[in-house]
Amino acid sequence: MSDKLKILHLEDNKFDAELINEVLERHAFDVSVTIVDNREGFINALESNSFDLVFSDYSVPGFSGSEALIIARQKCPDIPFIFISGTIGEERAVQTLLEGANDYILKERPERLLSVVRKLAEQINNRKQISELKNVITAISGSINDVIYIIYRDEKKLKWLSSMKTLFGFSENSFETDNLWWEERLHPDDRQTVLSDYRSAMESQSVSFSCEYRFRKADDTYIFVADKMFIERNSSGVPVRIFGSISDISERKNLEKLLMWESQFYKNLLEDANIWIHVLDMKGNLIIWNKKAVEMSGYSKDELFGSGNGWDILTHGGYAGLKKIFWDLIEKNESLRDYEQRIYTKDGRELLFRWSSGFVTNHKNEKVAILFLGKDITAEKAALKGLERSEKYYRALIESSSDYILVCDSSGRIKYSSVSIERKLGIKAENLIGKIIYRLFPICDYEKVESFFQNFVKQGLEYASIVIELIRPMSGQVFLEIKVYNMTKDPDIAGIIVNARDITERKNFEKQLIAARDQAEEMNKLKSSFFSNMSHELRTPLIGIMGFAEILADYDKDKEVKRMAERILISSSRLNHTLNMILDLRKLESSEIKSYYSVTDIAGLLKRIREDFTPEAEQKGLEIRLNVKEGLLINTDQELIMKALINLVSNAVKYTNRGVVELGAVHSAGNMIIYVKDTGIGIPKENLHNIFMPFKQVSEGYGRGYEGAGLGLAITKKIAELLKGDLSVESELNQGSVFSLSIPLTDTNDL
Ligand code: ADP
Repeated sequence: MSDKLKILHLEDNKFDAELINEVLERHAFDVSVTIVDNREGFINALESNSFDLVFSDYSVPGFSGSEALIIARQKCPDIPFIFISGTIGEERAVQTLLEGANDYILKERPERLLSVVRKLAEQINNRKQISELKNVITAISGSINDVIYIIYRDEKKLKWLSSMKTLFGFSENSFETDNLWWEERLHPDDRQTVLSDYRSAMESQSVSFSCEYRFRKADDTYIFVADKMFIERNSSGVPVRIFGSISDISERKNLEKLLMWESQFYKNLLEDANIWIHVLDMKGNLIIWNKKAVEMSGYSKDELFGSGNGWDILTHGGYAGLKKIFWDLIEKNESLRDYEQRIYTKDGRELLFRWSSGFVTNHKNEKVAILFLGKDITAEKAALKGLERSEKYYRALIESSSDYILVCDSSGRIKYSSVSIERKLGIKAENLIGKIIYRLFPICDYEKVESFFQNFVKQGLEYASIVIELIRPMSGQVFLEIKVYNMTKDPDIAGIIVNARDITERKNFEKQLIAARDQAEEMNKLKSSFFSNMSHELRTPLIGIMGFAEILADYDKDKEVKRMAERILISSSRLNHTLNMILDLRKLESSEIKSYYSVTDIAGLLKRIREDFTPEAEQKGLEIRLNVKEGLLINTDQELIMKALINLVSNAVKYTNRGVVELGAVHSAGNMIIYVKDTGIGIPKENLHNIFMPFKQVSEGYGRGYEGAGLGLAITKKIAELLKGDLSVESELNQGSVFSLSIPLTDTNDL
């Protein structure tokens, strides 16, 4: 753009026009003058060019200056219009000014022209600048999204200089121009803060103010904006105008929110992670020490690192080593992988940690910190050790076992063999791997093992066993017990466990046992038949002896003969009794005796027994007491129970020298307990276990002080068992004994 002052000069006198030009140029006015001398030229010039100034003669031929002024005012009202003319009289001159001319200059005094033009040029320049500024503002506001405004403080007016469409969605005339409208559209949560900050900025002397807030747009949604103001103050510092621009910062705010969320997220992640985390800056200062680290160590961050020797405390003096590792990492630009280090907790526990590390970088990819992750592997290590130990333990068990343990797949191919096989067969365990199990057997045994194994697999059994008699012409009979366990579904084993054991010895022992049992049974049979024959054979002559002794005992004539006959009678009765006992026991043992149940009155039974034994007891000065309720009934074999009780009472009387023998019966837990209690010699504890065995007596041999064959209790016990009951004893040496016969009360018994 040319900075020349463009002048349209209406002048018919060329000389005058050039004179004016010269005056201006001589005084350093850079002008471009268009000279016209008639109406047509004047109008054309105005329409085709833009001028800064119009000079006009008062009259040119056919065209008056006043007309020219009217035309100029119509066509370009803002361009100054100056009359330059000869003397026209003061009145006319004033008239021209009234008609709208800016000034009147006499041709005779062109020097006044200079001051007028200077003033006008200045104004023009200002106007040019303002219009340029306006153009710039318009251009800027058209090309930016920001909203530009001016606030006139005294008028309380708000003038929006740019479009409100893009940012706020307000079309022309759909917004208002006072402060209150703006205030009302602030977000309620921001309004108070923004307004109070704004007021304090106004009251202070600051020339700028900026704030961020949410503004309600035309569609009633909110937009996050930054509002920046320039405050123009008067000489007393009072704000006159405020120039402001509002820009959209939603994206930045969202980004900020995201960043805040992100950093909070990572912070929480570190803080709440279920693993020990600490972060050191590149100088080795601790920046982050998460909750888990506090929890695991028992120390707070301040407790440990306030003193500066935290790692020494945690590692019991191992900091120097750690420090070296740390600097090595930085130097070599490497990360720590699975580094194991012990940590000592505040409460004195020793924990083993596995450490890993990684560098933390900033947005410029510069390393700013090192992150350490620590995993407590104390339990894991202990378990592993335990596992190793137990593996070793089980391996030792298997290896030391005399069994041969193999694992093979379903086709019988060996995957594992215990070394015990080496000791027995002289084959190295590893040489067996890959071989088919049944092919290990000599051809004569091969088929048995093969069909057993294949059947096991085909039937999908869990377990099977077989005993195979191997044919060994040289070493004789060998028995092998093979047990197979299907563990193919167990991923740890994935095969069939074969446990083979040489049971030749056991087999031989079994054979011996069977032979011994057969022999014992045979002996027992012989013993029974011996006893039964003997009793019979002894009894027959004994009956004869007893019969004749009885006859002789009735023989009164010779007292000596009578006394001897009585003795013979007593001794032979005793012998008879013993023989009867032997016979009874044999019958009971060989189950020849059958039981015959009938309802039995226990009180009546005990009374009868007491009567039978009273003479013998009285002879020894003993009392026989009864402790039984009347009417106690039981369904049992009367004869057998009587026999049993007689044995017990006979013993009680026999082994009691003073005191009482008590016979009683009670119901207890579904049983009828009939007991015989005495105050006799008692039985030593060590004998209690075998007094129910035949022929067992507490005092044995020639020195024994009591008669008897040791059969009574054996018979009584057998009777109790026959009646589905039991016989038990409680005894205290020199205090007495209680023998209890317990007979179960069945439904029919419960009468
Ligand atoms: P015996 O004919 O010897 O009495 P039993 O079989 O009846 O044979 O008894 C075995 C042994 O039990 C007796 O020899 C005696 O030592 C001991 N015995 C049995 N009853 C009593 C009792 N009431 N008091 C002390 N000892 C007894």
